[in-house]
Amino acid sequence: MENGTERWRVRVNERLNATSAITVRGTLKKLIGNLNKDDPRPTVPLGHGDPSPFPCFRTTPVAEDAIIDAVRSAKFNSYPPTFGILPARRAIADYLSCDLPYVLSPDDVYLTIGCIQAIDVILTVLACPGANILLPRPGFPFYEARAASLQLEVRHFDLNPEKGWEVDLENVDALADENTTAIVIINPGNPCGTVYTHQHLKTIAETARKLGILVIADEVYHHLTFGTNPFVPMGAFGSIVPVITLGSISKRWLVPGWRLGWLVTCDPNGILRKLGVIESIMGCLEMTSDPPTFIQGAIPHILEKSGEDFFSKTIDTLRVTAYTCYDRIKEISCITCPNKPEGSMFVMVKLNISLLEDINDDVEFCLKLAKEESVIILPGAALGMKNWLRITFAVDPSALEDGFERIKTFCQRHAKKQ
Ligand SMILES: *Cc1c(COP(=O)(O)O)cnc(C)c1O
Repeated sequence: MENGTERWRVRVNERLNATSAITVRGTLKKLIGNLNKDDPRPTVPLGHGDPSPFPCFRTTPVAEDAIIDAVRSAKFNSYPPTFGILPARRAIADYLSCDLPYVLSPDDVYLTIGCIQAIDVILTVLACPGANILLPRPGFPFYEARAASLQLEVRHFDLNPEKGWEVDLENVDALADENTTAIVIINPGNPCGTVYTHQHLKTIAETARKLGILVIADEVYHHLTFGTNPFVPMGAFGSIVPVITLGSISKRWLVPGWRLGWLVTCDPNGILRKLGVIESIMGCLEMTSDPPTFIQGAIPHILEKSGEDFFSKTIDTLRVTAYTCYDRIKEISCITCPNKPEGSMFVMVKLNISLLEDINDDVEFCLKLAKEESVIILPGAALGMKNWLRITFAVDPSALEDGFERIKTFCQRHAKKQ
């Protein structure tokens, strides 16, 4: 084999090749590559969860002004301290404490580069040789990708579509063993659009306590709820089981590009410190980079001054688009939605492949839909759910209507002849 590379000794970490294939980004890239460039219609992006390009999902001027003021003040041009500047940590502690039965201290808060880095940190901390972690199926594939690259074993527990996508706790019980270290709960749920009840969250906390494992609560969609169940933070059960809460301003403030997130220890009994988890989190953060200082500088203003009117406008728009999505799905015979979405920006839809001709699975469905109708939807396979689809409704209402018209036409065109 003579291809001109034999003189180089460079080798790459092959574990990364395996992981990029299972990320949402990797899958979406493939779909976008399949778009028909000659289609004059705009692409309808129902695949990813970034509504910020749509004018109806613009962030509040309060947040924009806070950033400008932070930059202009010239107070935030230095490197930040490792865990974040104190006023930002304090503001986040106060903000989250409003929903908790105890008060968080700024020392419980670690600033991260979006919720993504918070996930990265906690998985790195828990990735001991032989350890395993329990992840929801369906869930958020970044967990799987990151765990694979850390050689942290993943065990999937099911969310039950017949029971509002609640955690199958018998399944959790059966999966856990002495090497299980934590369970991840995403609430409000991506990809199912669920909002868990107080009772269900409490039962999860009790199960985790019984198993002796931590709860990692991914609450990046905190307060993005528009159904009957209010948002209850997992940290409310921090006295039952230590909870590591992960979050960011990305989704509630519609600014995922600002990259400001947090990892918060909700553990009024101080168990995490005794277990060495705190020390390990600090060690991990000392080896990585931090969110930009001026974004940190703007945080107190953003959290304290953003008005209820901004939040309720976002919620009202999401309610309209979520219910539109739910109603349009009912008009299309080959897809069904087991649960009306109540939160986050996504819904899971079951594909009845037996009603379609010349389409064999969810991936082929999404590839052909991209090519023929310029609509991007995430195939369930990317989430371990073959022949399901994940649809985001956090788009402009007219784009959503347009997208569903095209999906309907597509499904009619490919329907099996009776
Ligand atoms: C979007 C998302 C994240 C990442 O949040 P960032 O703040 O943009 O890094 C993490 N978890 C879930 C479930 C998400 O949907």
